[in-house]
Amino acid sequence: MTTQSSTPLVTLKLLNKEYGQFTAVNHINLEIEKGEFLTFLGSSGSGKSTTLSMIAGFETPTSGEILLHNNSLIHVPSHKRGIGMVFQHYSLFPHMNVRDNIGFPLDIRKVPKPERDKKVDEILKLVQLSDFADRRPNMLSGGQKQRVAIARALVYEPEILLMDEPLGALDKKLREDLQDELRQIHRRLGITIIYVTHDQDEAMRLSERIAIFKDGEIVGLGSGTELYNTPPNAFVASFLGNSNFLKVRIKSESQAQFEQQLLTLGTQSHRIPDQTDVLLMIRPENIYVLPKEQAAQEPLAADMNEILATVEETVFLGESYTCTLVTQSGQRLMGKAVAREHTDVTAGSEVCVRWSTQHSCVYEQWSEQDIMKAS
Ligand code: ADP
Ligand code: MG
Repeated sequence: MTTQSSTPLVTLKLLNKEYGQFTAVNHINLEIEKGEFLTFLGSSGSGKSTTLSMIAGFETPTSGEILLHNNSLIHVPSHKRGIGMVFQHYSLFPHMNVRDNIGFPLDIRKVPKPERDKKVDEILKLVQLSDFADRRPNMLSGGQKQRVAIARALVYEPEILLMDEPLGALDKKLREDLQDELRQIHRRLGITIIYVTHDQDEAMRLSERIAIFKDGEIVGLGSGTELYNTPPNAFVASFLGNSNFLKVRIKSESQAQFEQQLLTLGTQSHRIPDQTDVLLMIRPENIYVLPKEQAAQEPLAADMNEILATVEETVFLGESYTCTLVTQSGQRLMGKAVAREHTDVTAGSEVCVRWSTQHSCVYEQWSEQDIMKAS
């Protein structure tokens, strides 16, 4: 881990890209530390690839700055940036075998043959393709082709590896295997990886930090845990994982009650004015559903909230079960629990829904669009 005082490896400053009237990347600021695995996550068209292409040097920014070790990259041609790149489509040379495909970047850099062969052998081992070195790409599976592409990008030891949806064309199982391999490669080489995906599971699995893209802007930045547990806004809460949103109005007759309300809404950090409509977010797994009779016997702890609801449906999913609830004001909530707990909650029954104030987030500003499931 780098210390806070060190210069970031890559700095994006007010990076902007316009296509005619259309803003694809909107004044992004971002610092990327040496050795980190950072993922750009966002739905299609949110500006991830455009940002990556500007870092790679395939696209020229309309304005803004890209710094590598504090030096501007804007006028440095792509091949002199020390950056490796892997795309979804393998772009391997069909007439060359695996060994020569991987060796190609060294050949154009005129690396002497013994050194070239040694490096290619090492990297073949790293991506577990030593036994396939003499095959042509058309004799490889999709996963193997993508490993060749990764090896080819790594062989000249770039400082940064950029990957744009590299596993997008592979099926789920293979994708997960390659995700594990990528994590290992990252650990072993200590290389800086900037990765693009629209798949949140993939982003969570791979990355140390995730930058969430929306309409050309970064609207969330942090570890998967941070973004999931304390999303900075309703969009991120909705985008990442499952979430319940409750629209509530802060009401208070007296100051004392007002303070109490702030507490029950889980927001001690700042004051929300009286009569404000706020959005409360609670993850399904943080919702406790109790049959009314049981709730009567379990007093509400000081840091818990409680509302009444009716169970609409319960769905058993093996390791867990989910429960759709409708509150008295007609808002729908989803609860999720480990299957061996709460087995006596049935459709149609009236229940108490409880959650800890520590598990709720409050947003004062949001739009309906933010909380519609985007992906
Ligand atoms: P993502 O990778 O997140 O799916 P992109 O960065 O590829 O998104 O694209 C962001 C937006 O910019 C999209 O709306 C896309 O249509 C637009 N865009 C990308 N490249 C061009 C281009 N060469 N000309 C015009 N619009 C473009
Ligand atoms: Mg893209």
